[in-house]
Amino acid sequence: MLNIIQLLPDSIANQIAAGEVVQRPASVVKELLENSVDAQAKTVQIIIRDAGKSLIQIIDDGIGMSETDARMSFERHATSKIRSSDDLFRIRTMGFRGEALASIAAIAQVELRTRRSDSGRGSDELGTLIRMEGFELKTQESVSCLPGTNILVKNLFFNVPARRNFLKTNSVEMRHILDEFQRVALAHPEVAFSLYHNDSEVYNLQAGKLSRRIVDLFGKQYREQLASCEEETPYVSVRGYIGKPEFARKTRGEQFFFVNSRFVKHNYLHHAVVGAYEGTIQDGFHPFYVLFIEIDPSHIDINIHPTKTEIKFDDERSVYAIVMAAVRKAVGVYNLTPSLDFDA
Ligand code: ADP
Ligand code: MG
Repeated sequence: MLNIIQLLPDSIANQIAAGEVVQRPASVVKELLENSVDAQAKTVQIIIRDAGKSLIQIIDDGIGMSETDARMSFERHATSKIRSSDDLFRIRTMGFRGEALASIAAIAQVELRTRRSDSGRGSDELGTLIRMEGFELKTQESVSCLPGTNILVKNLFFNVPARRNFLKTNSVEMRHILDEFQRVALAHPEVAFSLYHNDSEVYNLQAGKLSRRIVDLFGKQYREQLASCEEETPYVSVRGYIGKPEFARKTRGEQFFFVNSRFVKHNYLHHAVVGAYEGTIQDGFHPFYVLFIEIDPSHIDINIHPTKTEIKFDDERSVYAIVMAAVRKAVGVYNLTPSLDFDA
């Protein structure tokens, strides 16, 4: 009898894997923004056309890549962020799986221009241009370009018609992009972000404090509605802002937890926040909050799924208690001294 098992070619393996990482244009925006932040960018520009269906372009002024790294960045499981399994327990970067660029290149046309801003001997004089299409290398050459990374993702799912047809209307896809954008922008107020959709400016956010970022993202009416929140134990620290009880809304969507700068959804911790408002908000109303939880990475497991926003703590009850204490204090203090430290 003949044996019948074969290894799949990389292009097909990556296309299948891409289904996990890239559900829609917003997934590409998230992955690319996280790469820019991981590359220590100070300024990030995002250009979107047709809700990302025809173009997603991200330009950063981060560390950039050498020519060899630029080519390597598209290989599956190729990453500069972890080297050993031990590193999985000390993750400080947004990325670490080395799957995003490989996945995106398998299902889109990608153009990458990158130049190292600091190669140890100052910045490289020339950068590298790489064009990929359906995971095939089309161009690799030296080009003159600015230091940092400029990546264009065109015609998402051009070779996966079923996926392309499954995309929602531009307004729905744009909503998803804005959600991802807001999360990264909140997590990194020290980075300036601008976002353009079909040539009009949607956001132009200056680098600054978190309070300023919240107001720039959500509106001036938030300026007088925020109370700062802070609490710390040796195990975990919590800081951020919560909204006044009167500012609670019926619709959800403006509740943000970040664990070590990573946006997460956590019903149990949400419950802790709501509990801390006890009696000050009506049932069915949701308070605004942007809370940053900092914890030693060895106490959390983020390795669940590339796109999932869940996280596990080894001592969830302690985190619950400290979040509740932090919010309770802020709700209480707010009623006495509503003065805030704003630079906006
Ligand atoms: P991961 O982020 O998990 O490492 P990616 O596929 O997103 O995997 O990226 C692969 C590698 O390419 C990264 O580890 C990084 O070294 C490099 N890279 C990607 N985007 C950028 C960028 N904007 N600036 C500098 N390096 C980048
Ligand atoms: Mg990445």
